Amino acid sequence: MASYKTLDDLFKAVSLRGMRILIRADLNVPMKDGVITDTTRIERVAPTFVELAARGARVIVLSHFGRPKGAPEAAYSLECVAKGMEPFVGQKVAFAHDCIGEDVNQTIKALAPGQIIVLENTRFHPGEENNDPVFAEQLSQLGNAYVNDAFSCAHRAHASTEGITHFLPSYAGRAMEAELAALDKALGNPTRPVMAIVGGAKVSTKITLLGNLVKRVDVLVIGGGMANTFLAAQGKKVGKSLCERDFFDTARHIQANARGAKCEIVLPTDVTVAAEFKAGADCRTTSVDNVPDDMMILDVGPATLEDLGRRFSEAKTVLWNGPLGAFEIPPFDTGTTGAARQVAALTKQGKVISVAGGGDTVSALNQAGAADDFTYVSAAGGAFLEWMEGIELPGVAALERN
Ligand code: AMP
Repeated sequence: MASYKTLDDLFKAVSLRGMRILIRADLNVPMKDGVITDTTRIERVAPTFVELAARGARVIVLSHFGRPKGAPEAAYSLECVAKGMEPFVGQKVAFAHDCIGEDVNQTIKALAPGQIIVLENTRFHPGEENNDPVFAEQLSQLGNAYVNDAFSCAHRAHASTEGITHFLPSYAGRAMEAELAALDKALGNPTRPVMAIVGGAKVSTKITLLGNLVKRVDVLVIGGGMANTFLAAQGKKVGKSLCERDFFDTARHIQANARGAKCEIVLPTDVTVAAEFKAGADCRTTSVDNVPDDMMILDVGPATLEDLGRRFSEAKTVLWNGPLGAFEIPPFDTGTTGAARQVAALTKQGKVISVAGGGDTVSALNQAGAADDFTYVSAAGGAFLEWMEGIELPGVAALERN
């Protein structure tokens, strides 16, 4: 398990009353017409704000929002988000129209102990994404200590995620700590056997991921559109299915590496096929050896799902990224939903540890009503994938170095 300091270490080191604590959060929430449409990210970091505020700290929140180009843009202001945070932290949240400078410093110093302030979008300054040490130092001057609670931003070496740690004692917030602990349980130091499910559209976007997983898990289930490429690389006909012909060698290479690493790769044995990808399309189940030329594979079939169920019950840890089929349109959600519910039920019975993440995976598990029963569902997209790929995350490495 990686070593980094947590809030408990901070509490042991100093009394927080009146201290200015800078927290990097991910307040990059989806928003429509000034209203936050999904508050998950706020809900995850709110406990850290509340805990620090309860100890009398002045809580100073840093975040990016959207993709402004290194200059202020009204559409990317965090002001609405600061307001939207209030019900989750149980107090009025102050807002500063910049994230560096003497004015902001004075506003922070005027806060009462236990108050929370959100600073304006860090990406309004080019130094944020360039990880400019001058900008990082300016940020650091606003606080006495730094807490990173934004795992989802940890794959970027930006001033507010990495640069700042060179200037302040740095700690992991509660959400960061929970995420790192869950990930460690799933892949860093897991209870075996470990089974990974990787689905989604294309092999080409997940080569590094598959390459890392075959070295580290016992069973790797490949589903979704990417399974078609593996099946076709074995000489099977996949009709009109999504298939990346340029990646046949890659698929064969991954299978050879898996054999060398004693990782069993599991591909669908039966599939749901349809002539077109639309709701209510005429579909049927067929063996992967009999996919008609004029049809496409859009989901795994019932025999595959049953086989997965048996395998889940033999696993101790299940790691999941990517849907097993085109889950957005019924009935092609059947495989993903069925598998998700099986893993959720085993988790609830205490039989497996289950960790899932990556954009579409979270919506697929929510759609299946399974997300709440998983051990941990990561709200991070890119950072979760890079972590699964075995890539060092600069934001996490910075905490460990500190
Ligand atoms: P990814 O972003 O790579 O995780 O891919 C997610 C997308 O893969 C979803 O939009 C699914 O609809 C799509 N997908 C999964 N299985 C298939 C399939 N058999 N054919 C086409 N698209 C699929």
